[in-house]
Amino acid sequence: MISEKEIWDALYDVKDPEIPKISVVDMGIITGVKVSEKDFVNISMTPTFAGCPAVNVMRSDIEKRISLMPVSGVNVDVNYDVQWNSNMITEKGRELLKDSLFALPPVHNGFVSIEMLTNIECPLCHSKNTKLQTPFGPTQCRAIHYCNNCFQAFEQFKPV
Ligand SMILES: [Zn+2]
Repeated sequence: MISEKEIWDALYDVKDPEIPKISVVDMGIITGVKVSEKDFVNISMTPTFAGCPAVNVMRSDIEKRISLMPVSGVNVDVNYDVQWNSNMITEKGRELLKDSLFALPPVHNGFVSIEMLTNIECPLCHSKNTKLQTPFGPTQCRAIHYCNNCFQAFEQFKPV
């Protein structure tokens, strides 16, 4: 019988299509893995942002990856039982975001304030002399900032 740990390990192979280095596990969006009798796998996943177009891609990538394992079937249930927030990104996930030159969402206590979008540390030169250009980046999950020190625009993974 296949273990839940083996499923979790395999899920590290499934990456967020928008940030190719980071796995769905490190994004914190996998909220449950259950292996039932006869090796049928149920996975729960919570979308990062409502209507995030990457959700369907990730869901089908998860199904493909798990189907390669000795399982009788796999079902990925996308639900909001657990509301995702940016604190759920793992330590490793935060490192990978930094490596990909994203500014990180500050860890918060459940309240997101506008200050979390201002004077964000530039991932290129680490200056905090930056300004928010638009809270709406190429995807809903990202904000764009401009660094007054190195004159580069950079993206922040938004705190939610
Ligand atoms: Zn800079």
